Amino acid sequence: MTKPIIIAIDGYSSCGKSTIAKALAKRLNYAYVDTGAMYRAVSLYILRAQLDWKNLSEEELDQTLDQIHISFHFNEESQSSDTYLNGENIEEEIRGKQVSESVSEISQLKTIRKRMVSLQQEAGLNKKMVMDGRDIGTKVFPNAELKLFMTADPKIRAKRRYDELKANGKELNLEEIENNLEKRDYNDTHREENPLRKATDAIKLDNSYMNQEEQLSWVLQLVEDKLV
Ligand code: C5P
Repeated sequence: MTKPIIIAIDGYSSCGKSTIAKALAKRLNYAYVDTGAMYRAVSLYILRAQLDWKNLSEEELDQTLDQIHISFHFNEESQSSDTYLNGENIEEEIRGKQVSESVSEISQLKTIRKRMVSLQQEAGLNKKMVMDGRDIGTKVFPNAELKLFMTADPKIRAKRRYDELKANGKELNLEEIENNLEKRDYNDTHREENPLRKATDAIKLDNSYMNQEEQLSWVLQLVEDKLV
């Protein structure tokens, strides 16, 4: 089991992509990149700076992106990676309502996508990488050795997200979450640039009625088939 590979995981919002991606990376001793966190970090920067992002020229957007440095650092307490924007831990803030409401619109911008895709490709140069997002198997790594496309019943996804936020002490209305997921899925599948699509060679995983262990062992079997 030595051949280094890239595992691309795409799918709808709140399907549990990052949960399975993190577990896989840990098991295989691979790196993990949460590309959604990158788009969320860019969105946070733009919102904080109150930029009129819909009307910025390509050049202005490029200059803005030059001011943004995104990194990930392991958090011993939570045993997972936190997202940093220009050295500040923004993990909690990027999961909040304000960013969640704007991220799928801001990430439609071509200039932003271009920059993020090239950073992601660079991060995967040495393989041994699990990356999750919306366009990983179709655009970032079209030659990834293993591609997964995750989906789950929208009601189940919203309830999972609700439970997750509640466990973190955040009270949000279930209907509000359902609406946010629906809006993001719509924006992500209908945008012009790299829309969310199942790559033709991606393997579909509907995890509506699967627990985390079941998903992990199912995916590990697929990985093993690719490694031998
Ligand atoms: O994965 P997560 O739900 O945190 O992603 C937040 C948003 O970032 C998505 O709804 C999508 O609009 C955008 N995104 C993207 N391409 C990716 C990852 C995320 O457009 N590769």
